[in-house]
Amino acid sequence: MKKVNNIAVLTSGGDAPGMNAAIRAVVRTGIYHQLNVYGVMYGYRGMLTGDIFPMENQTVANIIQRGGTILKTARCKEFYEYEGRKKAYENLKKFGIDGIVVIGGDGSFKGAQKFSTEFDIPCIGLPGTIDKDIAGSDFTIGFDTAVNTAVEAIDKIRDTADAHDRLFIIEVMGRDAGYIALHSGIATGAENILMPERKTNIEDIIDDLQANERRQKLVNLIVVAEGDEFGGANEVAKAVKERLPHLDTRVCILGHIQRGGSPTCLDRLVASRMGYAAVMALLDGEHHNNMIGIVNNQIEYTPLDHAVKATQKIDPEWFKIVKILAS
Ligand code: ADP
Repeated sequence: MKKVNNIAVLTSGGDAPGMNAAIRAVVRTGIYHQLNVYGVMYGYRGMLTGDIFPMENQTVANIIQRGGTILKTARCKEFYEYEGRKKAYENLKKFGIDGIVVIGGDGSFKGAQKFSTEFDIPCIGLPGTIDKDIAGSDFTIGFDTAVNTAVEAIDKIRDTADAHDRLFIIEVMGRDAGYIALHSGIATGAENILMPERKTNIEDIIDDLQANERRQKLVNLIVVAEGDEFGGANEVAKAVKERLPHLDTRVCILGHIQRGGSPTCLDRLVASRMGYAAVMALLDGEHHNNMIGIVNNQIEYTPLDHAVKATQKIDPEWFKIVKILAS
């Protein structure tokens, strides 16, 4: 296997808390192993424009606790086309880069997969996404922080809902995945959780609300994943108001606060372990074009194309828990 000398790290797609911790781990592990480490600004866009700079241990000082990403992130249309990826390759070659660590979500991995099959620069993916919508890892960098932010916000909403005897319909992020909704909903004792992995039946929701009303339970929280097939929180609220106009129903869309903030201990640990493992994978040469995951507390490698294709299944037991604990 060819020896790796110069590696690059970039963050791409949606940002996630903990990306900085992962960048730091990649830079410091690379330098420890006598590699030159380059940062690419703005994800694939920076590869195309040549926005690439050498990083030192000091460049990543004091960032492990910071949300966002010091390398910035972006979406890059040109990278979908072969010509764009070729231009990116030529820029990387100018710096002698012979290995890349891409920290991003499934879209970023699709790009990395294409790039690494077309050109002779291996890529390692680190799952950096608050949505946890990637197969091959129990954790993704940013999920734990996002879910804790959602929990903190929903707890506050419950206080005001309780004071006024209100029904709150709360929309959380997650794109096409319902993990933020499921985890934050269970952790805040939500009365109902709507998510794309399960069919939403508005009649069941109305029945539950009416049953709660009969036993004088007027405080209800329904957590809705943004990707739920019924629409978002506004659509659910509209349907509920049509059927139960006497209920005091409010909507709260948590939005971008879920992407920001200082990463939790778990996200920092996951990011640090994965960043270290990414550089080791580039050095050992056996796991090129794989995503680093953590499964049962062990580092696992999943080919990039598999990580984006496979979807995680949610054990139906989780839905039972929601129902029983909200009774
Ligand atoms: P995320 O990585 O968070 O899922 P996106 O889906 O926006 O975010 O993907 C980030 C970037 O990855 C895109 O802007 C594009 O440059 C690249 N990308 C995504 N999908 C593909 C694809 N099918 N082919 C090539 N590049 C892609």
